[in-house]
Amino acid sequence: MQSAQLTEFGKPLVLNEIRGPEPQGREVLLETVACGVCHSDLHMADGYYDLGGGRRTYLKAAGMSLPRTLGHEVVGRVLAVGPTAEGAEAGEVRLVYPWIGCGECKECGRGASHLCGRSRAIGVFTDGGYSDHVLVPDPRFLLEIGDLRPEIACSYACAGLTAFSALRKITPLDPDDGLLIIGAGGLGLMALQLVRELTDTRVIVVDSDARKLEAAARFGNWSLIDASNRSAFAQIRTLTRRAGVAAVVDFVGSGETARLGYGSLARNGTLVVVGLYGGQLVVPTPALPLKNVTIRGSYTGSLSELRYLVSIVRAGQLRPLPAKTFPLDSAQEVLDRLRSGDIVGRAVLRPTSTPATPPAKQ
Ligand SMILES: [Zn+2]
Ligand SMILES: [Zn+2]
Repeated sequence: MQSAQLTEFGKPLVLNEIRGPEPQGREVLLETVACGVCHSDLHMADGYYDLGGGRRTYLKAAGMSLPRTLGHEVVGRVLAVGPTAEGAEAGEVRLVYPWIGCGECKECGRGASHLCGRSRAIGVFTDGGYSDHVLVPDPRFLLEIGDLRPEIACSYACAGLTAFSALRKITPLDPDDGLLIIGAGGLGLMALQLVRELTDTRVIVVDSDARKLEAAARFGNWSLIDASNRSAFAQIRTLTRRAGVAAVVDFVGSGETARLGYGSLARNGTLVVVGLYGGQLVVPTPALPLKNVTIRGSYTGSLSELRYLVSIVRAGQLRPLPAKTFPLDSAQEVLDRLRSGDIVGRAVLRPTSTPATPPAKQ
């Protein structure tokens, strides 16, 4: 099988021909139909996260070994199943839940394998979808997508799930509470696609790229703030009559955006940091009790949340995110374009020539 692999951190991906795996036990082998290229793949390719102040945390220390096939937003067609795998049959097109854990710890036990300290996440700690084949350890990590198109469905495994789980942490909200969404990249647009399923509160979107704000406007009636020339903070203060907002979701996660988010909070507000851009947020400790605010993070989401999300998407006739597809051998080019901010919506690899639409049910 052909895989675009990370063989050295900080170096371009290499297209390798490797032996395809035989599914053992409960494993399922899929032919990759679509694989989203996620912003976090850039961090994995770099091999570290920026902690601000010149400090880094390295993925190698977290147990990420090389060579590794990236890609955690996978829709595939079942090719073969292990002898004891039940609930998956050859030919079925499925979305893969990638945030798999050890299966033994407390987090895994309570259905939060995405928070497992011994993660086996697909495309991070095991090989993912930048390949024509993907091996999944158990059929229970496969979700039906109905008539969703694979290149649209794949991004719910990370971008969609991450946005959804973050929004669930700050909802419900009253109509006049106000929600600030920082960043209208892939994650931010996902949040805008889903937000009206969770709250009817007033939504403000801030980005410094006019094209991304334009894309955001297609998903609903938001207050748009262009941070490229005027102070975003001043514009938010004006919009909220100096009161601030009850909730902020920061999909960028730089020091600058976290400061903007924190500074925009009303009393009793919550800032959720999702993006992994990197940086630092320094907060005066008395402000936490005096304003009664919450600062928290949100990392992807659980298997049950993904099931819930996919059911909403399938029922909701939601406007799909713009998705542009690329062949497998363009994986590095796509990463480069993502890094330069050149992608609006989602970039999706189509590693095989498998038809984009699942066969109609007889
Ligand atoms: Zn675990
Ligand atoms: Zn991701």
